[in-house]
Amino acid sequence: MSSTQIQREVKLIELLKPINSVEIKANELFGFIELAIKYAAREIIGIGIGIYDSENKNAKITSIYPVLDAPGNKSRVVLDFATHERLDETLNFWRNDGEEIAVLHSHPGFGCFSSAIDEAHGIRMAALLFGGIAVMIIVDPLHNEGIKIAAYSIDPATKAVRQIPFRLVP
Ligand SMILES: [Zn+2]
Repeated sequence: MSSTQIQREVKLIELLKPINSVEIKANELFGFIELAIKYAAREIIGIGIGIYDSENKNAKITSIYPVLDAPGNKSRVVLDFATHERLDETLNFWRNDGEEIAVLHSHPGFGCFSSAIDEAHGIRMAALLFGGIAVMIIVDPLHNEGIKIAAYSIDPATKAVRQIPFRLVP
């Protein structure tokens, strides 16, 4: 780990906000799932914009922006600094309903479990990029039991990634 990475880790630990539940605007998530199905030959990633409620420790995702140029393949997709910077520039033109609070990605056909890569490059990277508030949503649009969705956050006390309840809202 480089000294820059260590500094970022330290900063992350100081910044982390508790998130115990997440609400997702249904039409936005359905749009993301639709893309996850269309591009199911590879994983896709997206950024969730929304509002963090510190009193109720709840995050509400009000819009989702897919990032179809993120580097990835069938079993991996990465939100790197370059991709995030490009997306950020784009979002400056039309973001008016909140802050970046979530990172979403698809697992076409292999379930919604959070892998070590997801934890290192998904939610921890998102927490750094988004200033300490980060939810990770994983969708499997091709699961043999039907479309699967799971939400995760980082527990500020233990720094562990844990699954949290989500609900779809109008
Ligand atoms: Zn993953």
